[in-house]
Order: sequence, then structure tokens, then C-alpha cells
Amino acid sequence: MSSRPTDATPAWGEGFPAGLDADAAERVGAQLRELYRRHAGAATDGVVSFYPPEAAARRETFGLSGVHVGGARISLGDCRERFPLHSISKVFTYALALEDNGRAATLRRIGVEPSGDPFNAIIFDEAQNRPHNPMVNAGALVAASLVRGDDAGEKIDRLLQRLRVFSGNPDLGVEPEILDQQLDSNDRNMAVSYLMRSLGMLDGDLEANLSVYLSACSVTVTTDELAMMGATLANDGINPLTGQRAMPSEHVRDVISVMLTCGMYDAAGQWFYDVGIPAKSGVSGGIVAAIPERIGIAVYSPGLDVHGNSARGVAVCRDLSTHFGLHLFTPSHEPAS
Ligand code: GLU
Repeated sequence: MSSRPTDATPAWGEGFPAGLDADAAERVGAQLRELYRRHAGAATDGVVSFYPPEAAARRETFGLSGVHVGGARISLGDCRERFPLHSISKVFTYALALEDNGRAATLRRIGVEPSGDPFNAIIFDEAQNRPHNPMVNAGALVAASLVRGDDAGEKIDRLLQRLRVFSGNPDLGVEPEILDQQLDSNDRNMAVSYLMRSLGMLDGDLEANLSVYLSACSVTVTTDELAMMGATLANDGINPLTGQRAMPSEHVRDVISVMLTCGMYDAAGQWFYDVGIPAKSGVSGGIVAAIPERIGIAVYSPGLDVHGNSARGVAVCRDLSTHFGLHLFTPSHEPAS
């Protein structure tokens, strides 16, 4: 598969990676293209499922994009293919819940402990009477309920407005077909919602709240847009290209922290051990990563591993991390290749 940079991609090397001259930047670009080609050609052994099953028809789809906080970008492969955010939306719903309610009030309602269980598990932090964290469905449903707005429509509009600033795409929207599909297979989220209401963790109109949560899941993006969303998080909440603020600076650290500890389903520990960067995945096969003050990365490839993470996405991020020394605990004396 060849690399297909977007029209708007600024010349690789213009300020990225910081401190590198044009020759060195070109070498890094060549290494990235080579890494992309290797993973595009590799067998995806770990793939056990697709969501929905029809996504199997796109098993070879593979987009990889990176945006430096300085604004320069690289886009490889199927970087313009649209896919739904699904669980990746939880990051941004949580950001807005924090903005609307503040840290202490949000923390009273949603914990920040990795659950170690699947994203849709019907389990809660019983001691504190709240969902374990905002990256599992239970926590995201409470986060959706904390978003300010008179009704579901207003909440969805406010969420969309933020997602548009994060991505830099003013047309970002909910894909109705995907939303319908989600509404048709929603029993488990309903069950979690009703159970949470019976326990006093959630209140109000549960169906309206589900439509907020599922609308956020049904927003479609490209890896170019998603990498920009990651770069906005990495850039203290300011979109590096438009200069617009997408969320308050004071909550960026909170959001990135839960990505780091809870972002990769029940493989969050293994991910941190191997890859070591804050990230969030979704069942459509997307992954967004944000490395503060450095870069946003997005991958899309729909084949899922046993944890529900994109198998190719995990493999390519592991390689990127090793190759460029991106793990947060890479010793400074260990030179990146
Ligand atoms: N819309 C999906 C659900 O709530 C999202 C799941 C995910 O990406 O983990 O079931």
C-alpha cells in the first residue's frame, strides 16, 4: 500500500520533529513510511473479530496519521477513510463533563481506577457507588449525563462543537446509519443505565442520556482528524493548526491520565508496559494517542484482537514507540533509533 498524504499536509520537516534539520526530518519521514509499509504488508494474526461483523470487508484498511504540536503532519495509507469514534468518544465526553462540573464533582460521580474488566461489564465501584472510570461504558454514560444542556439535542450539539474544535473539521457530525445500528443493539447499555439509576449513580431520562452517549459514539472521523484531536490534547487543549481552545487547560492532565491508565480496554496494563503512551481505542478499530507537548497519533484498522483493540493498531504503535523511544519511561540516555 502506498502512502497518500493529504493535500493540506505541510511539508514534512517544517518544524517537525522539533530540533531536527530538514535532512534529519526527511529521514524520520522515510522511517515512518517504511514502518507503515511493513505493517500494511504484515499478516494480522491477532485478529479475532470485527465490529460490526461486516467491517471484515475492510480488513485491509489501514490509516496512520501523526500531528506534531508544532502543526506539521504526516498521513499514511487510508488516512481519509471515515470510521465511527465509538469508545474513543469517551475521552471527549469526559473532557466536557469535567469542564461543565469541575474536577471534584466529576470525581464524586465517576472514579479513575482501571476496572480490569471488559468495557461493557456490569460492575461498579461499590465502595464509592460510582462507575470505575470514564473509559468504560458505565462511566461514559454517567459522563454523558453530566454534560450541560436542557435536553439531549443541546448536549449533543455542545459535544459536537467541542469535537469540531479538537479535530479542526467544522463539519464533523453524527452518522445516522451508525446511530440507528447502535440504538438497535443497545440492550446492555440500557441494562447498565437502569441498574445505575437503581443504585443512585445516574438519574433523569435514561433513553435521552443513551442517545447522547450513542451519538458521540457515532461521530465519524478520519485518522487525519483523529490525530489532530490527539495533538490538541497533547497541546494543552489547543488545536495546533487553528489555535482554538477545545477544552480548559486545567483538565487536560486529568483526561490524559485516565487515557493512560484505562484507555485500552482490559489490556491497559499491557499497553502501558509495551507502548507506554496515553491512548484510547474504540471497537471500530481506531486508536488515538496523545503524547503531551509532542505529538498526536491516530491509527485505523478494523481487525480487533481479543481485548477489542485494533490488532494492527496495537502492533504499529508498539513499533512506533520502540523505534522512536516514545514510551514515557524511556530513559533519556537510551538513544531512539
Ligand atoms: N457504541 C459501543 C457501545 O457502547 C462502543 C463500544 C466501544 O467502542 O467500546 O457498545
